[in-house]
Amino acid sequence: MSDLLERLRTRGWRLTSQRRVVAEVLDGDHVHLTADEVHARAAVRLPEISRATVYNTLGELVALGEVLELDAVGRAKRYDPNAHRAHQHLVCSGCGTVRDVHPLGDALAALPAAERHGFTLAAAEVTYRGLCPDCRP
Ligand SMILES: [Zn+2]
Ligand SMILES: [Zn+2]
Repeated sequence: MSDLLERLRTRGWRLTSQRRVVAEVLDGDHVHLTADEVHARAAVRLPEISRATVYNTLGELVALGEVLELDAVGRAKRYDPNAHRAHQHLVCSGCGTVRDVHPLGDALAALPAAERHGFTLAAAEVTYRGLCPDCRP
């Protein structure tokens, strides 16, 4: 059983066939799919699954903290099942491929006190952009 499914089962999330398919589509490393991509892949396995069901399920997974919703990466929101290990993203400006990366040092600590404007910091998101090997001229 996949890692995401395992976590959801442990939490007692009611696994209908539709929810299971969404979780299966999202499972894996370096997975950063848009809602439309999740729907397209889910529909291969379960043709009757509706877009609304996929959107609702994604919203629930995000609310549970088991899937991350990425705003800043790419053009549409993307969904990332790697919710329990802090990581940053490397994004290809050509094809939109997204990789999970783990930079040296602590991105939170990298912001000096004078730049915090009195905020209590909770998280830092860093997006590295460039061209992947397939897009490099
Ligand atoms: Zn590329
Ligand atoms: Zn990620």
